[in-house]
Amino acid sequence: MTSAVITNLPASVLAPTALVPDRLVSDRLASNPLSAAPLSSSTFSSEPVRSVPCRGKVWLIGAGPGDPDLLTVRAVKTLATCTVWLVDDLVGPGVLELAAPGTRIVRVGKRGGCKSTPQPFILRLMLRYARQGETVARVKGGDAFIFGRGGEEWAWLAERGVQVDAVAGLTAGLAIGAQLGLPITHRQVARGVALVTAHTVDETGAGSQPYWRALAQSGLTVVCYMGMSDPTRLARVLMASGFRADLPVAVVQRATCADQRHLTTTVARMAEAIATHGMGSPAVIVLGDAVSHAMAMAQDVLADARLVTTG
Ligand code: SAH
Repeated sequence: MTSAVITNLPASVLAPTALVPDRLVSDRLASNPLSAAPLSSSTFSSEPVRSVPCRGKVWLIGAGPGDPDLLTVRAVKTLATCTVWLVDDLVGPGVLELAAPGTRIVRVGKRGGCKSTPQPFILRLMLRYARQGETVARVKGGDAFIFGRGGEEWAWLAERGVQVDAVAGLTAGLAIGAQLGLPITHRQVARGVALVTAHTVDETGAGSQPYWRALAQSGLTVVCYMGMSDPTRLARVLMASGFRADLPVAVVQRATCADQRHLTTTVARMAEAIATHGMGSPAVIVLGDAVSHAMAMAQDVLADARLVTTG
């Protein structure tokens, strides 16, 4: 439906010094006295906690990996009740088409080469709308609680007296099972699955890594999120940590979206394969012998479909 009001946050809002949402988001916000306070670009924990009566509510909604058909029924029902949607980039365009006429949609994802909309900005936006009495949907790709900051946002809002609830979404790293016919926990070759990120931010703000050495010995299929920024380094670290050079790898880009692409390779060859085929984010990297059991691989070869197979 096209009659929803869609607001793209201008790139300028992403610079910490320009965090004045009043004129950037909507007239409606500008008329809100709460919006006079400039946003802090420091960590959100420094925000003062005020006890202001709040009529609205925030729903943290996982929108799945992209294909709107993979929204849960509960997500669809809940979205229909929300008057304002704050939407991440990873949310598929088909999901936005479900918005009822008059829904205010604010995109708060990555834009214009900037890293991301500052988290304090998004938090304040949710708070403001909730205090205005709106039912707010914080719509996130996959599941809000898998690398989605759902827990942080819930805690921050609850501390300020906002009622929060959540709806589960299908996380991208597990959607690839059905997409590729890939038995992630194939009982002959995998004892389970680990969802990990190559980029973790610890309390000091510094990056930290998963304990690769333990994962290499775990017998788990390892699904790596956010691992596409430096595949050469990732492959080097994996092999240095004990992952076999010939361990099967699947790289799945934009899983479940119309332009999904995937390739299979090995740890030793994955960086070259990713570069050769121009694969990029968002993608998950699946490590493990279960990859060699993926049914879609053989079918795609026969059908000469989107599959790229290397090594
Ligand atoms: N909350 C999301 C994850 C957000 S972190 C979820 O549960 O899926 C962002 C990372 O998720 C991306 O860098 C990528 O690794 C992965 N991702 C998200 N959507 C994806 C998709 N459609 N296909 C492949 N990877 C995806």
